[in-house]
Amino acid sequence: MQVPFVDLRAQYVSIKDEVDAAIRGVLDDCAYVGGVSLDHFERDFAVYCRARYAIGVANGTDALHLALRAVGVGADHEVIAPAHTFIATAAAIEMSGARPVFVDVDPETYTMDPTGVEAAITPRTRAIIPVHLYGQPVDMQPILEVADQRDLVVIEDAAQAHGAEYRGQRVGGIGHLGCFSFYPSKNLGAYGDGGAVTTNDAELARRVSQLRDHGRISKYEHSVVGYNSRLDALQAAVLRVKLQHLDEWNRQRQRVAAWYDEALALAGLAPPRVRPDSTHVYHLYVVRTATREEFRSRLESEGISTGVHYPIPLHLQPAFRHLGYRIGDLPASEAAANQVFSLPIFPELTRAQVESIAGIIGELLREGVVLPISDDRTVLQHSDEWWKPT
Ligand SMILES: *Cc1c(COP(=O)(O)O)cnc(C)c1O
Repeated sequence: MQVPFVDLRAQYVSIKDEVDAAIRGVLDDCAYVGGVSLDHFERDFAVYCRARYAIGVANGTDALHLALRAVGVGADHEVIAPAHTFIATAAAIEMSGARPVFVDVDPETYTMDPTGVEAAITPRTRAIIPVHLYGQPVDMQPILEVADQRDLVVIEDAAQAHGAEYRGQRVGGIGHLGCFSFYPSKNLGAYGDGGAVTTNDAELARRVSQLRDHGRISKYEHSVVGYNSRLDALQAAVLRVKLQHLDEWNRQRQRVAAWYDEALALAGLAPPRVRPDSTHVYHLYVVRTATREEFRSRLESEGISTGVHYPIPLHLQPAFRHLGYRIGDLPASEAAANQVFSLPIFPELTRAQVESIAGIIGELLREGVVLPISDDRTVLQHSDEWWKPT
């Protein structure tokens, strides 16, 4: 049996006629940057997120960077972000000139642990970036409260969570700004790069939309030095078609996850934890074992592709060496980086495929390949060899 990690072809085939027609429409119109296809997608995506505004940008990293710029984050500022996330969350902070301050994640949901946020606030802190990791919303209430008390901006990194809900609210419309990526493998993926910023604030929407388009206020009048970071019309047209299917695809992902939950529990592996006040849209289905590499290579030899999201916590990335973090600073993120791995998940995955994957996992468990999760978080795979504080 061969099971890929994601299957973009299966999805394209299922909507080929609609997508091809939308692409032909843009080609016929010859409006390749901006134009109606962008306007229509932005309108539809704002409605979908239950936010007043959505602004298409070039990618998810730029969405975060422009959101930070729009709220005035720059040099001498600090921005709080989780250590267990994709690098773009923190790269965008550096792009703005500010300093990332990493906090730990909840060891069971892998999302930003709100209890660490307050302690990380200093007089320089301007913003907090909760990341709805793997498709599960962060516990936002305590973060919104502390942000409100300390006058900080909350920018949601919703790049993995299009359509997820927290206490009945869609992600992207909960904080001051929401940032999305439409990288092809995301729950809503373009056929190339793309991103969007959502907000309920008219002034912030205006600033993001100026910043992405050369700081333009009219054709050749520029109020600030901006960027060229627009979502192009072909991608907007594709995304608009795909948006109509997103809820159904998310439901299919949830169904696949429920099959995994059931089959893995039978096999003896604890399924991922979902907080009862949220809906998880399963961008990734992540499990955990102390013997990850052996486990993954055995699955690989049976034809099952897996991934690791993410093997090095951001505070220990060579790129962030200048920030001065050490092993042991953020134990839950370090343990997650050592132990998590992701099983294949995409809307078209079948129950039979899930059951055979779980069957193989069950056999490995019976063979004793999976040891109990240890509490020893000090032994990072990529240990001191590369980590030399400057
Ligand atoms: C994908 C992703 C991004 C960046 O998006 P790009 O479109 O690749 O620039 C940011 N944050 C998280 C959590 C992501 O998964």
